[in-house]
Amino acid sequence: MTARRADLVVVGAGVAGLTAAVAAADAGLTVTVLYKPSPAGAPSTSTAYAQGGIAVVDPTDPDDSVDRHVADTVAAGGPLVDVVATRSILADGPAAVDRLISWGAVFDAGASGALTRTREGGHGLSRIIHAGGDATGAEVQRALTAAARDRPALTALPGRAVALLAEGDRVAGVRTEAGDVFGDTVLLATGGTGHLFASTTNPLGATGDGIALAAAAGADVRELEYVQFHPTMLYTAGARGRRPLISEAVRGEGASLVDAEGNAVMAGVHPQGDLAPRDVVARAVTDAMERTGAPCVYLDARGIADVARRFPTVTAAVREAGLDPQTDLIPVLPGAHYLCGGVVTDLHGATAVPGLYAAGEVARTGLHGANRLASNSLLEALVMGLRVADAAKGAVGHPVPSGARAIAPPEARAGREALQDAMTRFCGVRRTADGLAELGALLADPAFVRDAPALSSRDREDAALTAVARAMAAQALARVESETEVVA
Ligand SMILES: Cc1cc2nc3c(=O)[nH]c(=O)nc-3n(C[C@H](O)[C@H](O)[C@H](O)COP(=O)(O)OP(=O)(O)OC[C@H]3O[C@@H](n4cnc5c(N)ncnc54)[C@H](O)[C@@H]3O)c2cc1C
Repeated sequence: MTARRADLVVVGAGVAGLTAAVAAADAGLTVTVLYKPSPAGAPSTSTAYAQGGIAVVDPTDPDDSVDRHVADTVAAGGPLVDVVATRSILADGPAAVDRLISWGAVFDAGASGALTRTREGGHGLSRIIHAGGDATGAEVQRALTAAARDRPALTALPGRAVALLAEGDRVAGVRTEAGDVFGDTVLLATGGTGHLFASTTNPLGATGDGIALAAAAGADVRELEYVQFHPTMLYTAGARGRRPLISEAVRGEGASLVDAEGNAVMAGVHPQGDLAPRDVVARAVTDAMERTGAPCVYLDARGIADVARRFPTVTAAVREAGLDPQTDLIPVLPGAHYLCGGVVTDLHGATAVPGLYAAGEVARTGLHGANRLASNSLLEALVMGLRVADAAKGAVGHPVPSGARAIAPPEARAGREALQDAMTRFCGVRRTADGLAELGALLADPAFVRDAPALSSRDREDAALTAVARAMAAQALARVESETEVVA
């Protein structure tokens, strides 16, 4: 790739990146979208894997309101939820979904044409729209990719971002392995960090690159310690890396969790039972695994009528493991799923670094607090993607930089599996101050983290994972220590 220029440069082709890109192209901007090449056939975005749906208030439903959605979000995320940001983002939800539908996305609807809504953990009522039963993300990705292809002002290219380009204090472009792309506005929409852990629901490329890039450029990176572990990732003995998710919507339709001895996992744990917020269910599942000594618990979905039709994605994954959800219990355990914190942005997606924006899972807007409410992330990415497009419109017109410098993240890195095992052991569902201190010492040990030039794409991903792990371990330790002080 020779050097390119666009009004908006987007790193990431999931829901956040493509929403911003398509909206910016519609507003008359030139846009270049960069994404990581992925192994043939495997989606490279979390977006494509999303199952349950998009949480959005139905403005015609007298029982629901933005206030109720805000209340549920605050109840799940706790005091770290920024209520002003949350209200602002959730209130824009219906219009953002309408925009996505106008670009061609098709959601499941009843005979009257009204969208079908289901319920997930932490939601007080059914407000989750979905597509293809449990294939919402695939439909969102399909529609956005098609919309992007239809816009001549938008170019999407495989290109792994390895550094930000800056002139003075302003970010002015992105360096990829194949060349430089300059832009008036740079949006990081690089997704999550699931591969910090031994098993995750995230696609292979979820290695925290955007966080490492933004932190190196001086952006504020916060609340990394709040990793959401989804309570029901499919368990297969010995498997690691990306693992299939069993959507929470399966519990929304009546499935329940039982331990290896047949006891209800959520009995007496939380008033919302199997539909309690995810952190509560993940801890209860971990307790049950410890109590029984089994490597998993079980999801009983046998009572859901025609489960294969309602949940085709889940059914296919379970069948691949040699089981049938209509007749067998599904073995599940918690898996790294979603990063609640990230690169701090304002309500327009702007980071503290001029010219640099972040949206989607890489960003921390204040919506998720310590625990994201189910299906709020696709909505946040849509709303914030649209807002970044607006902001980019106002930033067009900077001259092409004459003397841009590259700001690359640190290259020091641990071996991938050793890092994942250490993070899983010390920074997983259960954390202690001693364990986190041990993790911090390990991550500071030059025998564990080697400082050598990053020569390959894999090296750069390992370096990003290591940089994020160091920040996450430090923030988690500070949090555990401050909570211990409060309790004492
Ligand atoms: C299995 C699963 C189910 C989920 N279900 C739901 C759900 O039902 N509802 C919901 O709201 N949320 C759900 N989530 C969460 C939600 O899907 C994600 O948070 C959301 O899709 C993230 O979108 P994004 O655009 O931020 O990132 P992604 O969709 O992950 O896209 C990231 C993009 O960044 C690119 N990228 C990364 N690093 C680089 C780099 N260095 N250079 C260039 N490109 C780079 C990748 O190639 C990719 O194109 C689910 C997540 C998973 C994994």
